[in-house]
Amino acid sequence: MIVELISVGTELLLGNIVNTNAAFLAEQCAALGLSCFYQTVVGDNAERLCETIEKALERSDVLILSGGLGPTQDDITRDMVAKVLGKDLVLDEHSKERIRLFFAGRGQSIPDNNWRQAYKPDGAVVIDNENGTAPGLILSEKGKHIFLLPGPPNELKPMFTEQMMPYLQKLEEAVIFSVTVKLCGIGESQAETDILDLLEGQTNPTMAPYAKTGEVHLRVTAKAVTEGEARRLVQPMVEELKNRFGHKVYTTQEEVTLEQAVAELVRERGWKLATAESCTGGMLAARLTRVPGVSAVFETGLVTYANETKSALLGVKEDTLSAFGAVSPETAREMAEGLAERGGAEVALSITGIAGPDGGSADKPVGLVYIGCRVKDKTVVKECRFGGSREKIRESSVAAALTLARSCILKEKGEK
Ligand code: ATP
Ligand code: MG
Repeated sequence: MIVELISVGTELLLGNIVNTNAAFLAEQCAALGLSCFYQTVVGDNAERLCETIEKALERSDVLILSGGLGPTQDDITRDMVAKVLGKDLVLDEHSKERIRLFFAGRGQSIPDNNWRQAYKPDGAVVIDNENGTAPGLILSEKGKHIFLLPGPPNELKPMFTEQMMPYLQKLEEAVIFSVTVKLCGIGESQAETDILDLLEGQTNPTMAPYAKTGEVHLRVTAKAVTEGEARRLVQPMVEELKNRFGHKVYTTQEEVTLEQAVAELVRERGWKLATAESCTGGMLAARLTRVPGVSAVFETGLVTYANETKSALLGVKEDTLSAFGAVSPETAREMAEGLAERGGAEVALSITGIAGPDGGSADKPVGLVYIGCRVKDKTVVKECRFGGSREKIRESSVAAALTLARSCILKEKGEK
């Protein structure tokens, strides 16, 4: 099944709004194993919208249109789909009643325009909109399927996932099964280079890499008549990825996050983990505390932003700070060591760096971050140089700290 996304709206063409609907829909279709070969953005223009729909019907099986279902004159998607298919617009009593109830529930009178939304191309299935007045529509004609969704993302997303996805799944007479192999400690381009041969020849299963901050996720998806068969197709590819990336694979379970994987390693060993953060101001602790049950391993997370608190709370020597500065391998090391001692934790993680946008210098540029990790009696300090905004640098630092902790813990046992 070939899917084509058509996003309708002059605002999109002008760059006034970002086409997040297309990104969302494309990701959902990929997860369903549907091939999305084309995405089009077209303005609120009758002629060009008709042309776009006609063209899409020639080359794709499923058209998903978003936007232009509203009540105003420039909302023409419904009318143009009817026109291209040669269908009349007919009043749908159910939609009319829902629109009446929507406004009655808000104690508002109904603008005349809104009744337009109760019309549908003859034969269309109406999909209720739980968050607005424009109903969604599905038309099936000569083996082609057209899905119409309202533009506002808060209306489109639930309508798509709750009501249209099951419909799409049924169209595709196959079962989709996918496994995400999650990697840390490797960049996206390196990960891709390592699997170029696998990416090139792929048909079933398919593989798609997704870059997250400090992580790369490889999603392996297979399509088959039964779930068992789809699983059997996915498995060898997952094994191959595990062989190639070894310890860099931190999980193959969809719901497991990097912080959860690290917390689990600590828990398995009966250890505790503590954190001391400077430029990330508690973001690492916040990520760790997202993990349910992490209190079994995480007791202390300090934010030591000023030099004084680095000394007072962690015992970083004033000499170290004045000789090497707060952003230095020496300070990161003393932070981790002081924390391990005071926090009574087998794993102590420290972060100190320059998140910017100011405060950088030639030898210590913005994005320079030192991460200290003490596991038992051994301390490792890693120097990182991140790019991007202040926020991005902070997020990258947290991911790098978790990755370093994981690798030090595995090394301690000689697992790596
Ligand atoms: P309405 O009833 O609000 O007019 P509609 O179905 O006619 O809904 P549009 O008029 O095309 O949809 O868009 C309404 C709003 O929805 C836009 O102003 C924008 O905020 C958001 N929107 C529309 N299309 C997209 C898109 N592709 N990506 C993200 N947001 C979008
Ligand atoms: Mg509109």
